[in-house]
This record gives sequence, structure tokens and C-alpha cells, in this order.
Amino acid sequence: MPTTLLAVNNLKKHYPIKKSNTFFTYESLRAVDGITFELYEGETLGIVGESGCGKSTTRRLLLNVEPPTEGTVLYRGKNVVTMNRTDLRRYRRDVQMIYQDPYSSLDPKWRVGNLIAEPLAIHRVGTRAERRKRALELMNLVGLREHQISKFVHEFSGGQRQRIGIARALALNPGIIVADEPVSALDVSIQAQVINLLLDLKERLQLTYVFISHDLSVIRYISDRVIVMYLGKIVEVARNEDFFREPLHPYSKALLKAVPIPDPGVTLELQEIEGEVPSPIDPPRGCAFHPRCPFAMDICRQREPEVVSTDSGRKVKCHLYGEGGDVR
Ligand code: SF4
Repeated sequence: MPTTLLAVNNLKKHYPIKKSNTFFTYESLRAVDGITFELYEGETLGIVGESGCGKSTTRRLLLNVEPPTEGTVLYRGKNVVTMNRTDLRRYRRDVQMIYQDPYSSLDPKWRVGNLIAEPLAIHRVGTRAERRKRALELMNLVGLREHQISKFVHEFSGGQRQRIGIARALALNPGIIVADEPVSALDVSIQAQVINLLLDLKERLQLTYVFISHDLSVIRYISDRVIVMYLGKIVEVARNEDFFREPLHPYSKALLKAVPIPDPGVTLELQEIEGEVPSPIDPPRGCAFHPRCPFAMDICRQREPEVVSTDSGRKVKCHLYGEGGDVR
């Protein structure tokens, strides 16, 4: 059995929003609405969904940047919200972040060596000389040249900036990297280089990734397992090969329609996805996907489906696979 590094249980984040034309009445924006999953040591877990599905709020909750409204994130069995200072410090070292836009996350007034070594300084690791030595090691590791250590961020290309962001994330020897759209701001040709670098680093440093993206072709390339989110909920969990061979949830099928599958053995009957994502303030009754689903039945408009586990270990939240449906 793989070791569970993170166990997420019924995690919710609801934001109070003031109702228009009222002073004291609030309603809830359900950014994340009861998600449950595990992150296993050594895997790359891809989280995919359209904009507004709750991916980035999930990232903030995993990193303990803000507390959940309900539910827990357990790191090696300990709740990250209530853990003591020593454990929290260890958690903050062990779980690091790679951002979508490295330029906005890196101070333009700092030289690259200082940017990469900053996490070490914050955690009071090593002397100034040792931190500089570590910054040089990290630059080598991510494919930057040592003489670039004194340059400023604006002197680097987009791909090189992302390499600086990756080096910085690795400074404290983390075990888990949470990457939120790490290549979506890059040219396609550079995307492949950065993804291959991440895969190489994963092997060499035995990392575990949570890889958040709206781009299924990137998720397909890098992930071991795939989580699909829709309107703050998880609608499907599957191993990469199962998911891309045969997605089960109608929303997954619709997402995949936009992705070319270069495999003659794979034939997918996919439907066009229509309509807008509903508001997370007032989500549709029953299955939240029903206004856009080509397979919607009466029950879908009345009752929210349960998560069904299939024989092959997949999970899907849809009445087609529940009681009375096509149970696998
Ligand atoms: Fe479509 Fe019904 Fe399944 Fe929702 S529960 S995805 S509406 S078939």
C-alpha cells in the first residue's frame, strides 16, 4: 500500500457574500464544497476543471493559507489547521508551491541568488555563504547557469523565470510540490521543457506532486491519477490510463472532447459541452451539472448523486453509475 501523505476529508470553503440591496444578509459562495481524496507518496495527482471549479481554493486550503469552513487536511495523520508550531513549521517546509506566473511571485528588485535562497533565510537554514552555495546547486539542478546568480528576474525569459521559481520551491528539500498552472503562461515549446524538468526532478528527488491545471493534455502527460472538479466538488477520480481511455462522468467526457488523443486504440464517444458554469452562490439543485448534461434524467434535477466506487477502483459522482444506473 502506498503511504498517504495528505488525506483530505469533506473539505469545504464557503465565503460569505453580502446580498445586494441588504445590509446584514449574507449568502455563501461555495468555492470548495465537500471534497475527499488522498495524496500518495511518490505520485503526481492531477486536478483538472474549468475556471471557477475550486482548483485554486483547494490549493490554498492544502497549503493552509486559509482555514477551511469545514473538513480536514491531514498531513501524515495530523490536522494541518490544529497542528502544533513545530509540526506546522515542518509542514511549511515539506510542502512547497510553484506558481503560474513566476514573474509576479518573484521580487524584481532582488538578485536571483537571493530569491532562490530566501526560503532558507526565512527558515534560518545555514550561513549566508552556505545559502549562496545551495542557490548555486539549485540553479544547476534546474538548468540555469552559475554566472546568472547576480542577475535580476527581468533579464530572464519566461521559461527561465519558471526555472527560478522551481529552484526556489526546492530550496528547503520539500517532499510535496503543489504546482498551480505552472506552464499555462509559457509558450507551447517551453511548456514541454518545463514539464520534462518537473518529471526529471520528481525522479531524482523522489517528489510528490499535486498538479493543478485546466489543460487536460498537460494533465495526461504528467499525472498518475486524475481528479476532475466541477463547481467545488469532485466528480471523478481515476488512474491516468483509465481516465483517458474511458472517462466515466459526462463532464469528464465533455472536457476530453477538446483534447486530441493520439492513440488509435482509443475511441471516445464524446458530447459537446454547452452552457456556462452555474454560480457557486446558487448552484443548481440535484446534480450541479444537470443544466449542461446531455444525459440528464429527472432524478438528476432532484437529488445530488452519491460518489460511487467502481470495481476497478475508480470513483464517479453521477446517477448513471449509481443505484438503478449502469453500475460497473
Ligand atoms: Fe448528468 Fe445526471 Fe450524471 Fe449529473 S447525475 S452528470 S445530470 S447523468
